[in-house]
Amino acid sequence: MQRLTFTIVIGILFFSCNSPAQESRGTEQNSVDTYSMKKNDEYPVQKSEAEWRAQLGDEKYHILREKGTEYPRTGEYNLHFEKGTYVCGACHTPLFESGQKFESDCGWPSFDDAIDGTIEFVKDTSHGMVRTETLCANCGSHLGHIFNDGPTETGQRYCINSLSLEFKEEQ
Ligand code: FE
Repeated sequence: MQRLTFTIVIGILFFSCNSPAQESRGTEQNSVDTYSMKKNDEYPVQKSEAEWRAQLGDEKYHILREKGTEYPRTGEYNLHFEKGTYVCGACHTPLFESGQKFESDCGWPSFDDAIDGTIEFVKDTSHGMVRTETLCANCGSHLGHIFNDGPTETGQRYCINSLSLEFKEEQ
């Protein structure tokens, strides 16, 4: 019996520490009820994928333009709490203020809210899950996902790749 309990505990630890993607820890996914139907050529910032790749380099291009996910706990801004503004890593639109960031154990930079009107939401059914993807409303680049298990009064957890962001320190 002890061995069985031990095996179950190790199994739970293994799966909770090796999430293949940004996953919800709640039962419901999020409180978003309006999904963007915008096509790629409808965003204000328009660049060819060759131009994005040349600007971003392979690593950031994969996250921002191919909807990649950086490994958890590896990102530059995961445990970063300076005062300032997080801008889109592709088009540099301000997306999140440092006051909207909170310390999360999920392994990616987490925010409980975003600057109004800067984020678009898209239903994402990849990896056998139903999640809500977050995109930059100005250039359509992939940022991460949003979940409704946030610990603050907004109830939201924007789970964002560090590689999708750049930080501008408060002057
Ligand atoms: Fe952008």
